[in-house]
Amino acid sequence: MHLTAEETWNSCLTRLADELAPQVFKTWFEPIKPMSLQRSDDGFRLRLGVPSRFFYEWLESRFNTILTSTVDRVTGTNTEISFLIDSDLAEPDSLPKESKSLHAAQSSSPAALTTDRRGPGAPFTYSTPSHVIPADRPATAPARQSPDLNRLYTFDRFIEGDSNRLARSAALAIAERPGETSFNPFLVYGGVGLGKTHLIQAIGNYAVARGFNRPVLYLSSERFTAAFVQAIQQNRIADFARKFRQVRMLIMDDVQFFSGKEKTQEEFFHIFNDLHQNHCQIVMSCDRAPKDIVGIEERLLSRFHWGLVADIQPPDLETRIAILRRKAQAEGVTLETGVAEFVAERIKTNIRKLEGALIRLTAHASLHKNPHIALPFAREVLDDLLDEKPTRLDIEEIKRQVALYYNVAVDLLSAKTRRREIVQARHLAMYFCKQLTEQPLKTIGLRFGGRDHSTVIHACKAVEDRFDTDTAFRKEMEEVRAKLESQYVPR
Ligand code: ADP
Ligand code: MG
Repeated sequence: MHLTAEETWNSCLTRLADELAPQVFKTWFEPIKPMSLQRSDDGFRLRLGVPSRFFYEWLESRFNTILTSTVDRVTGTNTEISFLIDSDLAEPDSLPKESKSLHAAQSSSPAALTTDRRGPGAPFTYSTPSHVIPADRPATAPARQSPDLNRLYTFDRFIEGDSNRLARSAALAIAERPGETSFNPFLVYGGVGLGKTHLIQAIGNYAVARGFNRPVLYLSSERFTAAFVQAIQQNRIADFARKFRQVRMLIMDDVQFFSGKEKTQEEFFHIFNDLHQNHCQIVMSCDRAPKDIVGIEERLLSRFHWGLVADIQPPDLETRIAILRRKAQAEGVTLETGVAEFVAERIKTNIRKLEGALIRLTAHASLHKNPHIALPFAREVLDDLLDEKPTRLDIEEIKRQVALYYNVAVDLLSAKTRRREIVQARHLAMYFCKQLTEQPLKTIGLRFGGRDHSTVIHACKAVEDRFDTDTAFRKEMEEVRAKLESQYVPR
């Protein structure tokens, strides 16, 4: 078969265009350039050019499966895909200290990223999907301690705030003296997208960069489980256990996955004990506090507490803004006044989503060839991404909220019924419509089953009178108001 990179990629595009929404296809696949196609030991190697690192990361996190399967179908065999990033030529200079020394050899060559295609072999070859390695690593580069560490997950790139200060400083102390502090094991827990994986990998990256030259292994408990099951099937448990026992820093992500898997837990328990006894540094993450994990044996849980357990909370506004600014800077785009604030105010709980917003902005900016992102542009581009976008408070929303509060069907607020509790809810809803929307009384009346504007006036008066005399009612009213005001933007 004599395929060229262009032919291969064009066939891929034809297939992808069929399978993807036009907008997705246009934004994420059309800008890709085929660079080269070479034979490799077990198939092909396809190199693709992408406009930016963010573009790559987005592609990798969203479309890895469809991309690799499409390419495999077109070439008819296993094809390793690597990416070349134009803007990455400038990247090594902006790398933080520790990863610069780790990858110093890289600065002379364009960075490339390889999606990981290593199959389920020995546990050591497992890798996170975001695994990143330089393509042209010279033989003199430091040995890779754990192929699974994402070199971008460094302390320098991890913005500190009140929400993560303790976890971060403990992590740094451990990275400086792995296995020698009292923080062993170290368990960090917190919600999704708050930086657990980043932080625990930063420990590995930092230690390696500082000359810790003993085996470091990063893997998730899911990978551990899969590798263990495979070892059982292949009757190679002894091998499995031996490999783990050689490790001198074990970083185990998402230990909540062990829940309910008794055999795997037992194996991990023994490995844990041996490693701990040998002063191997053990680092773990979990999506909840250990006391809230069910389905993990007590003896293992109690070991999680031997060292230090630290949490990461959702970041406050200032930290979110700092994260956005920092990432924008690394990406070479300028956020004009108000943009970071706008995004950070709308996306409150999840840093991954925050990054997603920035990825989108950057991608659109690069398509427009304009590295300056202005507020109206950001509003437009992110319109459908801002899931925490406050809803406009309108008559229907007020009716819905009041009905919900009083546990009555919303239709009844517009119906003829004069049942006491319904009348009360109706009055209150009308009152808030008058207070919180700028709708004329006539419109409000009409939206409550075609009532007259004088009915609305009467309702408001009834509410005000009752507010003065009935403390229980006053409290209800305040609760409803607080709810409306906290979640919605008044018109
Ligand atoms: P978790 O493992 O808790 O779900 P991750 O570590 O995967 O979260 O973080 C999600 C994304 O947010 C990652 O890309 C990570 O680099 C980024 N991130 C998280 N916390 C921070 C932080 N404090 N500073 C900078 N980036 C962060
Ligand atoms: Mg994680």
